[in-house]
Amino acid sequence: MTRVLAAAGAQQADAAAAPAGPGAPLALCAPLAALADAGLEVPVLGGGVVRHVNLDVAASAPALDSVVAHVARLLPYYASVHRGSGYPSQAITALVDEARATVAGHVGARDDDLVVFTRNTTDALNLLASAVPGETVVLDIEHHANLLPWRERRVVAGRATIAATLEALDAELAARPAALLSVTGASNVTGEVLPIDRIARLAHAHGARIAVDAAQLLPHRRVDLAASDLDYLAFSGHKAYAPFGAGALVGRADWLDEAPPHLAGGGAVGAVGIGGVDWKRGADRHEAGTPNVVGIAALARALAELERLGDECRREHERALTERLHRGLAALRGVRVIRGFDDADDRLGIATVELERGSVGLLAAALAAEHGISVRAGRFCAHPFFDRVARRSNGLRASLGAGSSADDVDRFLDALARLVADGPAHAYERTPGGWCPRVDDRPRPEID
Ligand code: PLP
Repeated sequence: MTRVLAAAGAQQADAAAAPAGPGAPLALCAPLAALADAGLEVPVLGGGVVRHVNLDVAASAPALDSVVAHVARLLPYYASVHRGSGYPSQAITALVDEARATVAGHVGARDDDLVVFTRNTTDALNLLASAVPGETVVLDIEHHANLLPWRERRVVAGRATIAATLEALDAELAARPAALLSVTGASNVTGEVLPIDRIARLAHAHGARIAVDAAQLLPHRRVDLAASDLDYLAFSGHKAYAPFGAGALVGRADWLDEAPPHLAGGGAVGAVGIGGVDWKRGADRHEAGTPNVVGIAALARALAELERLGDECRREHERALTERLHRGLAALRGVRVIRGFDDADDRLGIATVELERGSVGLLAAALAAEHGISVRAGRFCAHPFFDRVARRSNGLRASLGAGSSADDVDRFLDALARLVADGPAHAYERTPGGWCPRVDDRPRPEID
């Protein structure tokens, strides 16, 4: 498997020259940012290589080139944070402090909000769950990360429209108060964006706080805690082009200062005696142990880079490609796009389809093995939502990001149309790990 940068340049030129369809400016259909996987070639069954098309960005996004460069620059200085007297240790300590400020600034944190670095969104929401002094209300559309951690949980079933769903939330909170309402900013199944400003007003009107699972939303849109009056925000670096193992929980300090430390250990304590411990307050309380310096620095750099790209530019790029994707899917026979809400008029570059006939798992395997296209098949860790809105047991999800191009969308639509009409060209078998080519002659990548 080769990474051919010259080929990447050629592909980008192709993508820019491709007909973008009505209303989609040509330049916006080229990749918006340089990513580590640009121009990656992958082998296909029967021999040969093709340019990889990454439409599984909602699961994990490749690193931005600028993030990779930043990490490479910091590695020579890698040293312990907060404990070392050496020059590298102090440089790295300053970098982590700056990263915290960058993250806070990017998400519009208030001066007294905490930025706690975590492993990912799941970790951030589990931390918050340990701090909530009462019940949490969630919708059934949530990813399991925002469904399972809450100890005292009430689940409200989504309705056919967002408007009716907000009425149901309103009624639930009016009937019985809750400490927290935790909602996703955008569905990881349908890409539908929820009106978080309105939901924040609704929660506050009933005396509840609001947390937003921004795992999907934040990499695509500017999210601002203060402007939207959100109390907490959770997100992951690996979905925001910084796949180095860090995420964050940002928000109000009081509950977090009262909560049991997320991890017990060094760094989270003021003083320790055999008989008792003086736990710190603030972010330190929940960040015991040696922090993931590389992940934290990468996350901050990625958010700074997204800010540099600009919210409007990112929206335009995504809007053009998402329209192209949905237009193409709507024209395909035998394929149904899954929707959560009839009135959702804003969505990220995510589309999940189900098939009238056949297995999406088989199709996903064939897309990868025969066409070099990565998508995802399954229920996307949102089982209650998927089971309510889908007709079949599994869907196939294509998701776009800053590295996506019109050419990516077209290759996917073309390959999907051919697979739905004619089936795969090779034989596959179902294994405990999913569908696999019966004979797989693709070489393993040389990663050493
Ligand atoms: N929330 C949403 C909406 C997601 O899409 C995901 C992951 O796909 C998560 C939470 C969990 O994120 P992580 O695996 O980074 O903890």
